[in-house]
Amino acid sequence: MFDVTCRLPKYDMVGVQFRISTEIQSRHFPIPTAAAAFRAYAIASSGGLPSEMETSARLTLDFPMTFEYICDELPLFEGWALRDLIHFRKRCRDNLVSCFQSFLNLGQPPFNIWISCTNSTSSSPLKSSGTGASPSWLTNLFKQRLTDLGKAFKNPLPNPSNIREEYLSALRAHLTSYACISCTKVHALEGETFCKELEKRLALAISTVSTTTPPILIKLGSLNIRPKLHVCLDDSG
Ligand SMILES: [Zn+2]
Repeated sequence: MFDVTCRLPKYDMVGVQFRISTEIQSRHFPIPTAAAAFRAYAIASSGGLPSEMETSARLTLDFPMTFEYICDELPLFEGWALRDLIHFRKRCRDNLVSCFQSFLNLGQPPFNIWISCTNSTSSSPLKSSGTGASPSWLTNLFKQRLTDLGKAFKNPLPNPSNIREEYLSALRAHLTSYACISCTKVHALEGETFCKELEKRLALAISTVSTTTPPILIKLGSLNIRPKLHVCLDDSG
């Protein structure tokens, strides 16, 4: 994606930055590899391109952030850029955790569409036909994502665009096992709106996170005290 940096003369930095900016913002490039995503972030950060840093940082979330994945790109990283990318990833992870936790509140609007399962052994606080039930196949999906997010920030983060497929897969498995009329009915009437709401909230959880250095580090930076860089890509925190 950024082979252009190798072909252009070193002094043509304006041209390089323009090409990088255009390529990233056009989003016409194919789904990047892990190496391309991390390389794009490293180049954008060293080139002082904040908008492109944001875009490429989000692309890296789809890939593991381990030494094995980024070792070839490490020489391109400035220390602060790698540190900021780690903090960015952790803040995205924390936001996604809060988001999935909120999904478990299926008794609260706008998620209170589900009714008690029929033909299943799932337990639900609602035994009537009222809404606000918590089908176990659905809560198990959200709990599994929370478990995955809690393992390590270095793992790929859930992509908001995948939640619909995961929802449909879980629903399909539930219907295959129990032929549940209740969930079939709710899905037929409200499934599309429900999925869009999940996608919207997950996307928002990530889009509101910036690669900008957190306030505490900015304060330290203004005093010309650079925090010692502890890069531990295998940290499970
Ligand atoms: Zn059901």
